[in-house]
Amino acid sequence: EAKAAGRNTYRFFCPSMQEVLDQMAMLENDLRHALVRHELRLHYQPIVRADGSLSGVEALMRWQHPQRGMVYPAEFIGQAEKAGLIVEFGQWALTTACEQLAAWAHDPQTAHLSISVNVSARQFRQPDFAQCVLEILERTGADAHRLKLELTESMLLTDLDALIARMAMLKETGLGFSLDDFGTGYSSLSYLKKLPLDQLKIDRSFVQDMLQTPHAGAIVQTIVSLARGLGLDVVAEGVETSEQWAALRQLGCTGLQGYLFGKPAPVEQLRWGSLMGAHNSVAEQAEPAAPP
Ligand code: C2E
Ligand code: MG
Ligand code: MG
Ligand code: MG
Repeated sequence: EAKAAGRNTYRFFCPSMQEVLDQMAMLENDLRHALVRHELRLHYQPIVRADGSLSGVEALMRWQHPQRGMVYPAEFIGQAEKAGLIVEFGQWALTTACEQLAAWAHDPQTAHLSISVNVSARQFRQPDFAQCVLEILERTGADAHRLKLELTESMLLTDLDALIARMAMLKETGLGFSLDDFGTGYSSLSYLKKLPLDQLKIDRSFVQDMLQTPHAGAIVQTIVSLARGLGLDVVAEGVETSEQWAALRQLGCTGLQGYLFGKPAPVEQLRWGSLMGAHNSVAEQAEPAAPP
């Protein structure tokens, strides 16, 4: 009895759990082929200035699965990291974003726009990361001044000096660095003045609650004044209401990003110029709302 159970380990799980495990294994197998099968996509979400005018976009990865349809980062980025695929995926995202920048440079309507690209800790720690970025910039002809790399606080935990040296070297090309999801990780104020950053991004969770709970409001206010004191840009993520926009503008937030100004969408669906009052036309049906 026990022996049989040992061989057929699925017996220990309820069927739904076994299904979940099978699905995950299948997904990981598919994920290994996603790049060569050209199933990865970049969607772009508007980033606007305090007055609502478009300053750039954030590139967000999606996986167009042949059977499942559009798969979102929450369902595959973690797995791509574990499987070591995130390095190649990240390189692809950087290349695609730089190609987009180079294409935009020819059109006066888009030449001023910047693109922010998320970089995973594992990708940034690759010994040849800086070299790869230089090669991509050269190959695509993108203007590095229009490129921002978004890092997260988790990558600041190990070997800060090496990280700073790498950032400083990359900054010589003209690109900028942004610290993503600020306030959710192991924030330490001492590294903030050491890192050659250009921008902080206030995590969506604080923005979401800022008008409801005094604590979240205080945190947003503190991050904005911290950024200003350090001479950094500050972008609020997840802005969904005009009340939040007004409050953030009052606080001196320099950049805003969120469904109010547009959901992430394929490049063809982006609208240029001022997004004031135009948020309904910006790819409204492009994507379902992300889970909270
Ligand atoms: P992130 O870099 O913080 O990106 C912002 C996320 O918030 C995006 O989710 C975006 O769709 C969502 N968002 C923006 N505005 C709003 C809003 O008003 N309301 C709500 N509810 N959500 C909003 P997404 O695209 O699902 O990406 C999730 C995370 O996956 C990203 O968070 C980033 O950490 C990671 N990611 C995405 N693309 C890449 C990539 O190319 N490379 C790496 N390493 N990570 C990526
Ligand atoms: Mg980001
Ligand atoms: Mg973010
Ligand atoms: Mg975030």
